[in-house]
Amino acid sequence: MTAEAEPTWLAPSSLEEALALRDEHGDEATVLAGGTFLGILMNQGFLSPAAFLSLGRVAGLGTIETAGGWLRLGAMATHTAVARSEAVRTGWPALARAFGLVASPRIRNQATVGGVLADADYASDPPAMLAALGAQVVLRSVRGERTVTVGELILGYYETCIEPDELLVEVVVPPAPERAVYRKFRARSTEDRPCVAVAATRDDGRVRVVVGAVAEVPQHFPDVCGLADGQPLEPALREEIARRYAERVEPMEDARGSAAYRRRVTAVEVRRALEELAP
Ligand SMILES: Cc1cc2nc3c(=O)[nH]c(=O)nc-3n(C[C@H](O)[C@H](O)[C@H](O)COP(=O)(O)OP(=O)(O)OC[C@H]3O[C@@H](n4cnc5c(N)ncnc54)[C@H](O)[C@@H]3O)c2cc1C
Repeated sequence: MTAEAEPTWLAPSSLEEALALRDEHGDEATVLAGGTFLGILMNQGFLSPAAFLSLGRVAGLGTIETAGGWLRLGAMATHTAVARSEAVRTGWPALARAFGLVASPRIRNQATVGGVLADADYASDPPAMLAALGAQVVLRSVRGERTVTVGELILGYYETCIEPDELLVEVVVPPAPERAVYRKFRARSTEDRPCVAVAATRDDGRVRVVVGAVAEVPQHFPDVCGLADGQPLEPALREEIARRYAERVEPMEDARGSAAYRRRVTAVEVRRALEELAP
């Protein structure tokens, strides 16, 4: 019997060093943040990396800052840090709530902002809320830096636009909207992840609704949201937008719910989210 070789451990201490290693190794070295997603894949035998590029020691990647009304979340900021941050709780309470509703404290203490976006799991909480807030995701490589929206980042089922030489380094959230809400619907008491998640914002007479966990990517229908432009969010309008979202989504089936069930829950949860935005 031959013993499996230990994976190579690359542990840079600066972002420059991390980017140089990413450039050198590409996807041959698996980027490791909090390890909560990778740990499951490895334990289940789906992944056995030959090398890790650990971001754990990279200085400055875990910061949470505000500047000029914008919020900047470093890729290595943990879910607990975001949920507990005074700046986030005061300025973007719905975002603090979305991160605070993820799994359990053990997971939230490890899981990172970069990790939850880069793993592109359809049933994660933060991506829908970040999309509703209009967050920008900063990707950097030795070639330079580019900024993408959450909708541009997450391409499909566990698929992102992150290139093999890029790292997700930061998420930048615009000044807070007048109102924002995050609703997480769990179908089973044994489940951490949402069956349907609704993130919604209202600002300057415009509404943005993003539904997570029902399809491969967060669902946003600007034309349906446009029905609310400049209108009071009366019950009939709330019903209409909710009905159209439920019609338009193409829900998937999994252990958390059938497609038909998810469609019904989408109608209810979008309506309730709009009710919360209404006053
Ligand atoms: C038991 C359990 C329950 C969970 N429940 C929920 C839940 O209720 N809601 C929810 O939203 N999520 C839930 N999750 C998912 C969890 O939030 C994610 O596993 C976590 O956010 C991933 O972050 P991480 O830092 O651990 O990433 P890692 O596991 O380290 O990495 C995840 C992926 O992203 C890549 N990556 C990480 N950081 C970067 C970066 N900066 N640049 C480029 N690529 C990067 C890695 O290579 C890997 O492919 C749950 C997970 C577990 C284990």
